[in-house]
Amino acid sequence: MPRKTPPFKNYPAWTQARFFGFIRSGLREKFNRYPVKYAVLKDSSKDIETGDIYKTGKKAGEPKTVKMYECASCNEQFRQKDVQVDHIVQAGSLKTFDDLSGFAERLFCGPEGLQILCTTCHDTKTQMEKQK
Ligand SMILES: [Zn+2]
Repeated sequence: MPRKTPPFKNYPAWTQARFFGFIRSGLREKFNRYPVKYAVLKDSSKDIETGDIYKTGKKAGEPKTVKMYECASCNEQFRQKDVQVDHIVQAGSLKTFDDLSGFAERLFCGPEGLQILCTTCHDTKTQMEKQK
């Protein structure tokens, strides 16, 4: 069976798709350490009182709070595990070296390029982008 794509010249053991997939996942890992991501997450968070009160310890008598994050699409409040930091404009594809600067610029955008979405709204957005 013929290969779908020929070996990539810089590292013939890999196809071009695998080569750029490797670089893309490396940059995406770095995005997970990008301070702007956490600044946006923090800005969308609120301490909401749970209705319980600390019974013991330094905070005894104070109301218990939980950090909640507002989804930019449905405007509901969610726990951190149920939200994602979303790129308003997708970073796009990275298939050649020519794609690299645009990809990196969109991935490491400023805070205005990011929004908080709940898992449901994020999945809906991803599905719609796939259909484009
Ligand atoms: Zn939502």
